[in-house]
This record gives sequence, structure tokens and C-alpha cells, in this order.
Amino acid sequence: MTAPSTSPPTVDRHAMIIAGRAVPATSGEWLTTYDPSTGEPLAEVPRGTAPDVDRAAISAHEAYRSPEWSRRAPHERGRALARLSRLLLNDIDQLAVMETLDSGKPLSQGKRDVQLAARYFEYYAGICDKLEGSHLPLDAEHMAVTAKEPYGVVGVIVPWNAPLNQAARAAAPALTVGNSVVLKPAEETPLTAIRLGKLALEAGLPPGILNVVTGLGEEAGQALVEHPLVRRISFTGSVETGRLVAKTAADRIIPVGLELGGKSANIIFPDADLDTVAASVLRTMTHSAGQICSAATRLLVHTDALNEVIARIVATLAKVTVGPGMRDPMLGPLISRTQLDRVLGYIKLGGQEGAISVTGGARYSDGDLARGYFVQPTVFTRVDHEMRIANEEIFGPVVCVLPFTTEDEALEIANNTPYGLAAGIYTRDISRALTLARDLEAGQVFINEYQAGGVETPFGGYKQSGWGREKGLAALDHYSQLKTTIIRL
Ligand code: NAD
Repeated sequence: MTAPSTSPPTVDRHAMIIAGRAVPATSGEWLTTYDPSTGEPLAEVPRGTAPDVDRAAISAHEAYRSPEWSRRAPHERGRALARLSRLLLNDIDQLAVMETLDSGKPLSQGKRDVQLAARYFEYYAGICDKLEGSHLPLDAEHMAVTAKEPYGVVGVIVPWNAPLNQAARAAAPALTVGNSVVLKPAEETPLTAIRLGKLALEAGLPPGILNVVTGLGEEAGQALVEHPLVRRISFTGSVETGRLVAKTAADRIIPVGLELGGKSANIIFPDADLDTVAASVLRTMTHSAGQICSAATRLLVHTDALNEVIARIVATLAKVTVGPGMRDPMLGPLISRTQLDRVLGYIKLGGQEGAISVTGGARYSDGDLARGYFVQPTVFTRVDHEMRIANEEIFGPVVCVLPFTTEDEALEIANNTPYGLAAGIYTRDISRALTLARDLEAGQVFINEYQAGGVETPFGGYKQSGWGREKGLAALDHYSQLKTTIIRL
């Protein structure tokens, strides 16, 4: 949560980046961010509102139209993005600490997020001069060519669970095509986005090409989606906000990419390597404390393996270390008091619905942990797929185990959700795995390992998990528009 203030700060202030300069908000107000390990104030950032978004959008528009960017030789754009990748890696220790303090995630996870952010810029940098069009055969008197062109100003709105990583995931392909960007980080975790804006300038991106406006979603975020100079939106966040953003974008007839929530299923057969399964569940529950959109929070287990799988998971989770992210435990805190209340509310609901928690089921309340937002990894069994805990996104270290006996039943349970972000299948039977992979309604399917792949592998949702794809070459289609030129010879 954030609290607006205009009084002198007790913590460091980080100005936002507009037109190449570090600036406060026009209102003069600041928002406080908090360390989720302790609940203590961490930093202050400007409370950007519509006039600040206006400044940023105008500067992004002017920078986009200048010869310095979209008309620049593509390989030079690529070199600037490659330099940004290197600067991120040079700065990895400082960035990882910032991300850890701001989001609560363990330091080694913060480091991996910085590496991934650098990888986005590295990957796309090499594509800038390979965005080829095509020649279309016509009749004897005509020819036609197509070219991929940028939109202009792209608005990027990201949540708090992987702040730098998600900002890079959208900004890198947008900049590669020659767009300029106005980035609005989540109010809970704005610090690494501001640092990204500074490093972009150091890397030689012209002022105004990557602006960072901090502020509240309903103020700065909404103003960004509404701004007439913003020609495309990339939104990552909840379904509720995604729906609002899409409605505004529909009124303006601008394209919007939506990366939303999930309730992903992991399907476990008795012939699976159960050690790998236990390790995967451990990652699901500890990575960002389970606050991952594609986390496999529904574990569909064949009845023949049910007891063994549950026993292994409980044994694995017993070894989880917990603490403030800076001590680099396996499990850090949730992002905020609001998220803590939400997750504990779902844990209580699970009991009321008749599910049994075989491990966890409460907040950590001993010693220092009581100050932060720490929740025990919680595994529910006796879960029916009609229960709310099996259908709604909890966004914390909570997994529901649902038994099945046939492949058809597993498929029906897995697809019986409004979401469709990811799914996993664990079996040694390749035919069964590939048949299920074909029939699962999910944008990414993993076989015998969850969360594999990297910046190269397109990512996005079926159904309410979103529209469009980030990552890989597929993302470039979303940040470019195709122009066809037809010539009479
Ligand atoms: P959220 O929707 O509350 O906020 C996301 C962002 O939207 C924040 O920057 C916020 O300030 C902004 N925002 C809020 N109201 C706005 C408005 N009216 N107009 C414009 N912007 C607005 O989401 P959250 O709670 O921060 O994030 C958690 C959600 O994000 C979960 O549902 C999770 O699954 C999803 N998520 C999806 C992905 C993905 O890639 N699919 C990745 C991470 C998180």
C-alpha cells in the first residue's frame, strides 16, 4: 500500500524519468513504498498524475518522430539496446537489492530477474536489423511490398511480482520495432523501473524514448491508457484491471495486449518422476512466494499416485527456509498487507469449503517474521473442482490437490477454469503427454518440467488469461503494424 505525502521524506526519494530528466510530480506529492519483510517505509516516488503522463507522452511522441529513433539505422538501435543489456548486468547487484527490498523476493530470485531483463534487451537487440518485409507477386503492371512499422508511443503497465523483468519483457520488443515507451510501474515496486529509465539514457537511448511515470493505477495508469498520443497498450496485471484497460482501449480503438491471471494445472501420472514433481511444487510455492501468474496452483494427481505425491510434497516443503529476501531464503514475504489478508482469507475459505490443509495453513508469526507478510506454504487436499479455492486466483504459496482417474477426467478438470495461461504434464508416456498438450486450453504447456523456456518462448493466455503474446519473435507482431505499398510499374 502507498500513502501520499508532501512532507519532508524520512527515506530516499527517487524521481521519475520524463524526457530524459529525473523529475518530481507536478502535484509535488510523493508515494511511499514499503519493505514487505518488515512493513517499514523503504522509499518515496512521485505521485504522477494526468499532467505528468501528458508530459511523458508528448516527449515520447517527439522522440519517436525525431530522426534519432524510428528513422535511425536499425543496427544502431540494436546497439543501444545491447548496451542497455550490458548496463543492466553491470548493475546487477544494486538492481537485485532494490528489487528484493521493494518486492520481498529472495535475493537470488531478484538476481535472476535482472539477468532475465538483460536477456530481453540482448535477444531483441539482435533483431532490430532483421525486421524484414515481403514482396508480393501481382500482375505484370504492379508490385507490392510490406513493411513492419512501429505504432509510435506504447504505454506499458506492469504489476509488482516481477517488476523489472515484466517491464523489460514489454519495453524491449516495443523499442526494437522503433516505438517509444511510457512505462508505468506498480505503485508497490517502482524502484527498478526508474533505474531502468536512467540506464536507458546511459546506453544512448535518446531522451523521451523510455519514460517512467510512477503513480497510482487509477491516476497515472488510467491517464496513460486514455492519452491520445498513446497508440498501443501493453498491460500486465489482474483480470479486473485488464477489463477496464481493454474497455478504454476499445473506446479509443487502440490495440491492447493483456497478460492477466491464471489458475494453471499440473497433471501428474503415476509413471512420472515424482522427485521432479516435488521440486516443481516447491518452486511454484516459493518463487515470489507463489505470486506468479503462471504458477501451477492446481495439482491434478492420478489416484494411484495421490498418497505418494502428497507425502513427497509435504516432506519437501518441511525444508523450506523463510525470511527477509536479503537473507536469501527459499521463501520471502507476500508483497503487502492487502495481499496477506487476501491469501489468509482464501486459506480460511478452503477450510470452510471442506478442504484439508496437510501442511501450512497460517501466517508465520514467530519473532521478526511477525512484522512482515510471511505465509506458510499451504497444500490443500480433498479439494473438489467446484470449490472457490480451486477456481479463483489466490496469488500466494497455496496449492490445491485434485485427484483424477482417467486422462479425460484430468483434461476436463484442467480446462474447467476461465483462465488458460499455462499447464504442466508429468508422465513418461510421450503419446499421452502430447495428446494432452494438444487438448489443454493454455498458452504454454510444459512436459516433465514446469516453467522451462526463456525469452525465446512466446508467452500469453488463452481465455481470460489474456490477449496476444509476449516474448520471442511473436511479441514483435504485437508491437508493429504492417504497411502494404502497391506500386504501378
Ligand atoms: P493490478 O491489475 O491491480 O495492477 C497492475 C498494474 O495496473 C499496476 O501498475 C497498477 O497500478 C495498474 N492499474 C491499476 N488500476 C489501473 C487502471 N484503472 N488503469 C490503468 N492501470 C491500472 O494487478 P496486481 O494486483 O498488481 O498484479 C497481480 C495480477 O497480475 C495477478 O492477477 C497476476 O496473475 C497478474 N500477472 C499476470 C502476468 C502475466 O504475464 N500474464 C504476470 C504477472 C502478474
